[in-house]
Amino acid sequence: MLACTQAQDRGQEYVGFATLPNQLHRKSVKKGFDFTLMVAGESGLGKSTLIDSLFLTDLYKERTLPDAQERVTKTLKITRHGVEIEERGVRVKLTVVDTPGFGDAIDNSDCWKPIVAYIDEQFEQFFQDESGLNRKNIQDNRVHCLLYFLSPLGHGLRPLDIKFMKAVHEKVNIIPVIAKADALTPSEVQRAKQKIREEIQEHGIEVYRFPETDSDEEEEFKRLYNELMDSIPFAVIGSRSMVETKGKQVRGRFYPWGVAEVENAHHCDFDKLRTVLIQTHLHDLKEVTQDVHYENYRAHCLQRQGAEPERAPGSSRTNRESESGLSMDTLPVSETAKLIEEKERELRQMQEMLQKMQQQMQQNPGEQSDPL
Ligand code: GDP
Repeated sequence: MLACTQAQDRGQEYVGFATLPNQLHRKSVKKGFDFTLMVAGESGLGKSTLIDSLFLTDLYKERTLPDAQERVTKTLKITRHGVEIEERGVRVKLTVVDTPGFGDAIDNSDCWKPIVAYIDEQFEQFFQDESGLNRKNIQDNRVHCLLYFLSPLGHGLRPLDIKFMKAVHEKVNIIPVIAKADALTPSEVQRAKQKIREEIQEHGIEVYRFPETDSDEEEEFKRLYNELMDSIPFAVIGSRSMVETKGKQVRGRFYPWGVAEVENAHHCDFDKLRTVLIQTHLHDLKEVTQDVHYENYRAHCLQRQGAEPERAPGSSRTNRESESGLSMDTLPVSETAKLIEEKERELRQMQEMLQKMQQQMQQNPGEQSDPL
């Protein structure tokens, strides 16, 4: 596993989200994070360059690029890279899941299926682990975010983009990005964004929605929220090199007519994306994965299990039954799921009450607490 520490003193160049009061940020400072980010999109769109630019690392140094013949016949592969990053005191154990081969073959009609299978497998593993004995130490490999790369030259979404995003939008938080934004002028970027947003809506694709701010939150926070929403899909530029411009060294791409600067908000949305991924929305991306995508999967599993006439002894279903004290055989599927949820809620409430009582007892050791 690679380890890298992000520069701490780049404050002025940031869009400013990190400096806002953020309770979730404080929470994450204490605990640290496991986070899994998947990247997908045609090869050559700059995925690996962007990942290395985002996390200031060199995750892909051992990558060998297939030649044209190999690409035609090759099927999609799933690879995982681990990296530990630390940003302003927040530790993130990041896993980057790459999907080389996506969209590269002549016939791409099914190329995304292994990705869907991979996302489901991680949910399944979590579901099994959650129902097992060692529930406190579950390794969470679920995919918390998918960066989906769109071609800057595509005039909107291609059929494969639509098909793929629709296949995964109920399983993962999709953040679409326009790759290699330096290939477009600023007005072309705006037009491309508008068109992609319209097509996303037209096709009923659900991409990640930034959580809305409460009415009593600061104006500044609201302004930034609107700015983020208007930026989707983020137009990004990646580069592994530092170049000189106006007397300073910047990460960028050098052209005879000037430098496309990766971290300059006037040139692209790289900084916004980086801030979202590393600081402000990491927690929310995990929460939506747990509360929406995983819950959908879990409900689906429970339904499926309820419908199965037989089950293997020791299966997760058996464990869940014995924990909750319910017999699911006699209940309709939706009732079963509801009852399990109720039981779990009751258990949580009891645990909270117990904790409160313990706290009270510690604070007032002499006094007797009320019984439950
Ligand atoms: P991947 O196959 O999607 O991982 O793409 P790579 O990261 O390997 O990039 C493919 C090529 O595009 C390389 O020559 C990169 O230097 C170049 N590239 C990467 N990012 C950008 C970018 O933002 N703009 C431009 N113009 N080229 C880029």
